[in-house]
Amino acid sequence: MTLAIVGVRVWDGSSDRLSDPCTIRVEGSRIAAIGPVGDGSTLLEGAEVVEPGPGCVALPGLIDGHVHLTLDPQERDAAAQVARSPEDTAKAAAERAAAMVRAGITTARDLGGGPGHLELTLRDRIASGEVAGPRLLCAGQPLTSPGGHCHFWGGEVEGDDEIRAFVAKQRDAGVDWIKIMATGGVLTKGTRPGEPQFEQARIETACDAARLAGRRIAAHCHATEGIRRAVRAGVDSVEHCSWSGAKGFGSDVDEALASEIGERGTWISPTVNAGWKRFIEDKEGVETEFFSNMRRAFEALRGAGARLIVSTDAGIPNVAHDALPRALPIFARFTGLSPVEVLRCATSAAAAALGVDDRTGRLEPGLEADVLVVQGDPLTNLSALERPVLVLARGVRA
Ligand SMILES: [Zn+2]
Repeated sequence: MTLAIVGVRVWDGSSDRLSDPCTIRVEGSRIAAIGPVGDGSTLLEGAEVVEPGPGCVALPGLIDGHVHLTLDPQERDAAAQVARSPEDTAKAAAERAAAMVRAGITTARDLGGGPGHLELTLRDRIASGEVAGPRLLCAGQPLTSPGGHCHFWGGEVEGDDEIRAFVAKQRDAGVDWIKIMATGGVLTKGTRPGEPQFEQARIETACDAARLAGRRIAAHCHATEGIRRAVRAGVDSVEHCSWSGAKGFGSDVDEALASEIGERGTWISPTVNAGWKRFIEDKEGVETEFFSNMRRAFEALRGAGARLIVSTDAGIPNVAHDALPRALPIFARFTGLSPVEVLRCATSAAAAALGVDDRTGRLEPGLEADVLVVQGDPLTNLSALERPVLVLARGVRA
């Protein structure tokens, strides 16, 4: 199937501005060429022509760096969901994946599910074209301490031998990433987000085992001490990065650690979802302490050249899987990034973080055709992304 998207201005995933109106030629799953509209003779040859209309902009499909396809955002108790029938969970996960791609999300990293590895099966069904959905990279069962965060997913490990054996088990199950819960979490009773749950040496073992398995490793970190141990152990991405201390999220910002993160090049995936709007101001309209603390943390990270990606933790209570576009303006508020910088965090930078920048994250001939067409200019107004006109995922129209 050959498709020509005609008359759209293009944001390629990295530059500071839009192109003049272009034609994007898609052959099969790939972008074959991008050229001026006047080059019609070659770009349109044998193609089905799609004209989204005036004022439309094409950009790379969006990437959500942190989701859970098997979690139901309508359900408060993550542990209880493990007891649902695998058939029901698999069906619901496939519906969520279809909604994501309709919203313009063409790649996502799934950072954890239960022992059935249902999200891996979904990943493979999407990749084969059997069902619609974003390209998925999956971490399988996260490593956690006994009784630790998300222990109900079956990843409890203690000591280096168990850590190595469990990473090998995930590799054999076919995961793309490894994940370790470096601190407690909000969703698991009896764990404390403000405290680490592994010694640094254990996280180092997990990193070493992941590397031996040829996989990158993500660490769930709320507590600042957990962030420190994970970063120094050499994880590839820090999830949440909540700077949590005795007084909760944002109460233990460490600017020296932010500098270290910048120097090491650790990716930060802060899971700022659209619902975080409620944390910016209190009822009187006064900026909250949490917001000003997090702003300071993001300023330190940016000042240190730290690399940020967009992520939502979709699947946790009240965070829908297709809500990434609505999260972007809130991510901009917290991070202080401009719209074009936010869009890089959701496309080219995220593709590099996830290890798929040889396939996606930019609009460029030779890459897979993950294309989002919107009405309006997202470089001046991120909310343009909430109105997709056309989505292609690996060349297939969503
Ligand atoms: Zn998560």
